[in-house]
Amino acid sequence: MLTSEVLVLNAGFIPIRITSVKEAVCLLTSEKAVPVIEEDRYVRSPSLSIRIPSVISVVGYSSFPRKRVAFSKLNVIYRDDMACQYCGRRYSMKELTVDHVIPRSRWESITGRGLNDDFASWKNLVCACRWCNSRKGNRLLDEIGWALLREPFEPEYMPHLVISHDKAERKGWLPFCSVNVKIIDVIPDGARLPLLHAGARIV
Ligand SMILES: [Zn+2]
Repeated sequence: MLTSEVLVLNAGFIPIRITSVKEAVCLLTSEKAVPVIEEDRYVRSPSLSIRIPSVISVVGYSSFPRKRVAFSKLNVIYRDDMACQYCGRRYSMKELTVDHVIPRSRWESITGRGLNDDFASWKNLVCACRWCNSRKGNRLLDEIGWALLREPFEPEYMPHLVISHDKAERKGWLPFCSVNVKIIDVIPDGARLPLLHAGARIV
């Protein structure tokens, strides 16, 4: 019970991290935080009886972490919400790849630019399911009558926390998750957790 997760908001009610009930209770009893949502269960000790929080707000801390988004394959997949930009379907991480929209063999003739000039960049990489990726091969979208779900772009900012929809709903966190949180349907499996940037947490 004490290891159960608690969503921590800053003073402006923006989610900044996830903590344990144990740490949350410490913050509450030392008056560094106030409860926002509480469960019907209690933590009891001889000197203390306190309702278990599921959301707390830290007193006096109103900033939140914003970091430049590192360019990586995993962040391309996140930018595209884990949806294949060709067929539009969403998949779990193990079915997803990134694809060069203009393939390597065509880049110089199509764009008139060298491979070191934006070929491997936010603008030319999209999330693709492995089936679409292999069907597309070295062809251009025009040649096979495909279109991108949306134009690839460099994200200015990505949220600090990734939380599954199920968990956010179950714990009553959803109303707080519009800023600094990315809600996803499926938490990717496997040991290699995709990171938005150093320090991002996936819960
Ligand atoms: Zn696809």
